[in-house]
Amino acid sequence: MSLRNAWLSSFIALASAAPHAARAAWIERTEAIMGTRVYVQLWADDPVKGNAAVDAVMTDMHRIDALMSHYKPDSQLSQINAHANSGPVRVDKELFDLIKLSTHYSLITEGAFDITYASVGYLYDYRRHIHPTQAQISKALPAVNWRNLLLDEEHHSVRFEHPGMRIDLGGIGKGYAVDRGVEILKARGIQHAVVTAGGDSRILGDHLGRPWLVAIRHPDDPKKVVTRIPLSDSAMSTSGDYERYFDENGVRYHHIIDPRTGHPAGKVRSATILAPTATQTDGMSKTAFVLGPEKALAIINRMPEYDAVFVCPDGRVLYSNGLRPPVPRPAGAAPAAPTATSPRVQP
Ligand code: ADP
Ligand code: MG
Repeated sequence: MSLRNAWLSSFIALASAAPHAARAAWIERTEAIMGTRVYVQLWADDPVKGNAAVDAVMTDMHRIDALMSHYKPDSQLSQINAHANSGPVRVDKELFDLIKLSTHYSLITEGAFDITYASVGYLYDYRRHIHPTQAQISKALPAVNWRNLLLDEEHHSVRFEHPGMRIDLGGIGKGYAVDRGVEILKARGIQHAVVTAGGDSRILGDHLGRPWLVAIRHPDDPKKVVTRIPLSDSAMSTSGDYERYFDENGVRYHHIIDPRTGHPAGKVRSATILAPTATQTDGMSKTAFVLGPEKALAIINRMPEYDAVFVCPDGRVLYSNGLRPPVPRPAGAAPAAPTATSPRVQP
């Protein structure tokens, strides 16, 4: 560092240490938690309070990870997987409630979202390029069924009603953690922020008077944008077959598993869901992979709080009704088709 720069940086350090020099500013931080990238950006009137708010969000993410990670042998979730085959396992109400909520998403997605997918999901190792044989899948598959989760509301206990069952909250835990992060920021008076964990984000307020512009990337090229969506006070989750995967003999083995077959679910390349909370968007973002885009759109279009953008294997981009531009129709014209399609994404 040159002398001039050294002088300059010490001057800046002195200036920012003076109490009256505190200025409103955007503060951002990225950390690796829950096996993914956690990002917080917020507008703080006082940078010291802003940084303390970011600290609080990160601390809570670590807490949730310690409670719910299936990688950590002493997490309560791992205790369920180790013992719920032989008897009820009592857990904190927070974890119990999220497991119970997961079964609600199983119900509304016709079983596409199912935390017991892990009974076969654990046989995949994407980092080491390992996938199960058909014989291994057939053996493990009968244990995949959320209806075999016995949930005791009074004691907050979980029991498996089928041998060989496992659960994994990887498909909803990050959305839940993002929502908790936003609640923490709100309680500290923050009014403009974004909290992201992996594919799950929630925006608090707006970007100082304008909406945030959130991009949906091309499945094969992180630098290409399929579309941008203006968002304020809303959550968004994108699931993609390009996040955790390996290719073998022309087959993509990726991390979203069809609970009916035990194979990776490939009916879309990516699915983006919009809704008020990130728990909702995370819980719904696996549906189109398993049920296909048409069926998933029918479900989304029935629920006024939700919207969706799906990128199909053939490059089509489908939008839910709420994202369709209003098209003026001549009097007497036939009603619009139930789904909207934009030009194809070039492979
Ligand atoms: P991210 O972890 O980046 O938020 P997703 O929201 O797309 O990614 O969730 C993918 C994760 O969901 C997988 O890594 C796995 O833990 C879990 N999962 C995979 N298939 C299912 C399924 N059918 N139902 C519920 N969870 C699933
Ligand atoms: Mg997610």
